[in-house]
Amino acid sequence: MKNVYLRTLKEFDYEDVEAHLLVVGDLKGDCFHCREIGIDYLSASRCPQCGTEFKYIASRQPKSSGVKLMSSLHNKRPDLIFVELDDILFYKNRERAQGLFS
Ligand SMILES: [Zn+2]
Repeated sequence: MKNVYLRTLKEFDYEDVEAHLLVVGDLKGDCFHCREIGIDYLSASRCPQCGTEFKYIASRQPKSSGVKLMSSLHNKRPDLIFVELDDILFYKNRERAQGLFS
């Protein structure tokens, strides 16, 4: 059988992911670190604004796009690790909430 894509769970350093994340929208990408928009996600290795090196990629498309979208992005950017944006936002929101009560 040929190789297939399977979603897995792995532990990551949240601050590293947040600092090096390229988020893909409909046509362009944006830097999760400095919010620069209009980045060519097919070729950018660094953010043109803050200079961060991209190591991770996520999509704003709904989760229902699933494996098809993930594998498509992986084929376009095999140098980046695909992560779920919802997962990043979950931890970001949790961090904000904890900040409010500390
Ligand atoms: Zn940036």
